[in-house]
Amino acid sequence: MELRSQGVSDTEVLSAMERVPRELFVPEAFQDQAYENIALPIGAGQTISQPKIVAEMTSALELGPRLKVLEVGTGSGYQAAVLAHLCRRLYTVERHRTLADEAETRFAQLRLGNIVIQVGDGSEGWPAQAPFDRIIVTAQAVMLPDILLAQLREGGVMILPIVEKGQGQKVVRLRRTEKGIERETLMDARFVPLLDGLPRAK
Ligand code: SAH
Repeated sequence: MELRSQGVSDTEVLSAMERVPRELFVPEAFQDQAYENIALPIGAGQTISQPKIVAEMTSALELGPRLKVLEVGTGSGYQAAVLAHLCRRLYTVERHRTLADEAETRFAQLRLGNIVIQVGDGSEGWPAQAPFDRIIVTAQAVMLPDILLAQLREGGVMILPIVEKGQGQKVVRLRRTEKGIERETLMDARFVPLLDGLPRAK
């Protein structure tokens, strides 16, 4: 209801979000805030995104039941669970094993059988499963990730937060057309950075 009152009008996205219990993705200590429209810590220095951003990015991705989707930055798995209700199959990559393991447990609890998760550097994409119809990056990139763009099918859409010169961090939408890549700036964002490689062992 709150998302609707804030201008989210995509009813398919709203009903997918209604089907995903956000409290399951939030640590014990923040349970009472699970349904507030704020980002929350999830461990490993990472955050679960604000529901409004999840709604808007999901809607901007123009999903459909036949589409194959790649997510970079599984985090808690919340965004992944929402996406999974709106596409055929979701491939998601997370560089922190602890977060990936927790997310995988949640997917099993929710019986989301169309999510495939992998621990790795998502800036490499998922070459064995490419091309994808849709790609969503949920960590902030500094440069346009050519490797990911190369894994986007023609007609495909990719959404990612990126720093725009003098503008700060924005969510942009890239569309691969027969003529090349079209780019639109959608909204302000505050994502954690997209990092290379895997975390160093402690
Ligand atoms: N979509 C998440 C929020 C993600 S926060 C959710 O719904 O909870 C961003 C995540 O991206 C973090 O978990 C971080 O560890 C991960 N990340 C950062 N760089 C990455 C990379 N190169 N490959 C894979 N995951 C990455």
